Amino acid sequence: MYDLAIIGGGPAGLTAGLYGARANLKTIIIEKGLYGGQMQNTLEIENYPGFKNVGGPELSEHMYNQALAVGCEWKYGDVTQVSLEGQPKVLEVSGEKIEARSVIIASGAQPRKLGVPGEKELSGRGVSYCATCDGAFYEDLEVVVVGGGDSAVEEGMFLTRYASSVTVIHRRDTLRAQPILQQRAFANPKMKFIFNSEVQEIQGDKRVSGVLVRSNKDGSTQVIPCSGVFIYVGFFPNSEYLKGTGILDEQGYVVTGPDMKTAIPGVFAAGDVRNTPLRQIVSAAGDGAIAAMQAYHYLENL
Ligand code: FAD
Ligand code: NAP
Repeated sequence: MYDLAIIGGGPAGLTAGLYGARANLKTIIIEKGLYGGQMQNTLEIENYPGFKNVGGPELSEHMYNQALAVGCEWKYGDVTQVSLEGQPKVLEVSGEKIEARSVIIASGAQPRKLGVPGEKELSGRGVSYCATCDGAFYEDLEVVVVGGGDSAVEEGMFLTRYASSVTVIHRRDTLRAQPILQQRAFANPKMKFIFNSEVQEIQGDKRVSGVLVRSNKDGSTQVIPCSGVFIYVGFFPNSEYLKGTGILDEQGYVVTGPDMKTAIPGVFAAGDVRNTPLRQIVSAAGDGAIAAMQAYHYLENL
C-alpha cells in the first residue's frame, strides 16, 4: 500500500514525486513511456527558470534522478483502469493492481490529429508529429508545418536546421504563437507562411509528395510540393482511463481548483491533463508540488 500513487512521469509527476517522497510519503510514479513526458521531444528549452538553455532529455534526466534520489519509486506500466472513490484507491497497471491512499493524476496530453485524407496512411512516411524525432530525415528537402501555435512555430524553426524551406500553413491571418517566437520566425529566411488556409489532403503514394491547400478567403486550392508534413494543431488530454469518474470536463480535462483537488477526496491532478490556463513545464512542475503537498495534508487528516 502506497501513501501516494502518481500517474505519469512528466514534469508534473516527477515534481509531485520529489515533493511526496521528501514529505516522507511512500510514493510511486507509474509511467508508460520514458521519464520526462513531452520534454523528451523538445530539443531546447529556454524558459525553465535556472537554465538559459537546456535540452529536454537533459532536464528530464535531472528531474528523474532528483525524484528517485529522495526515495520515490518508479514503475513502468500503463494505467488502464481506476477505482478512486473511498479507500484505498486502486489503479490497474498493465494487469496488476496498485493500492494507494491518495492519487495524483499527471498523465499529460498528446498531439491532436488533423483528420484529413492521407494523414493516417502516410503517418511515419512523411507525416510526423515530432520535429525533434524526425527532422534530420529532411536534410535539404522542403517541409510543411500545419498550425499556428507555439509548437508549430518553434518546431518549424527547428526544422530549418535541416530542411531547405519550411512552409507554415495556418488557418487564420495571425499566429497564436508567443510574440518572441513569431519575431524569430519572420526573420528566418527559410521560413514561409501561408495564412487563411487549411490543408485538405496529404498527398503521396508510398511517401508524402505534397499537400492540397484551400484558401479560407476565396475557396481557391493549390498543391504545395513537400517531402514532410509536421502537424502541430494542439493537444488532447490523456484521460481516457478516467471516463466515468465524473471529474472530467467536456473536453476530457480533469477539473481542479487552484489547490489541484478534484471532486474526489484524496485525488488530485497536475499539469497538462487538468483544466489550466497555461501548459508549460514550469506550471506543470508547480502544479505537481502543490498537488503533492495537498496529498500530504489529506493523508494527515485521514
Ligand atoms: P506530460 O509531459 O505530457 O507527461 C505525462 C506523462 O504521463 C507522459 O510521459 C505519458 O507517457 C504518461 N502517461 C499518460 N497516460 C498514462 C497512463 N495511462 N499510464 C501511465 N502513464 C501515462 N513547455 C515549456 O515550458 N517550454 C518549452 O520550450 C516547451 N516546448 C514544447 C515543445 C513541444 C514540441 C511540446 C509538445 C510541448 C512543449 N512544452 C514546452 C510544453 C510542455 O512540454 C508541457 O506543458 C509539459 O511537458 C506538461 O507536463 P505534464 O507532466 O503535465 O505532462
Ligand atoms: P495550441 O496553442 O493549441 O495551438 C494549436 C494551433 O493549431 C492553433 O494555431 C490552431 O489554430 C491550430 N489548429 C487547431 N486545430 C486545427 C485544425 N483542425 N486545422 C488547422 N489548424 C488547427 O497548441 P500548441 O502550439 O501545440 O501548444 C500547446 C501548449 O504547449 C501551449 O500551451 C503552448 O504554449 C505550449 N508550448 C510552449 C512552447 C514554449 O513555451 N516555447 C512551445 C511549444 C508548446 P487557431 O490559432 O486558429 O486556434
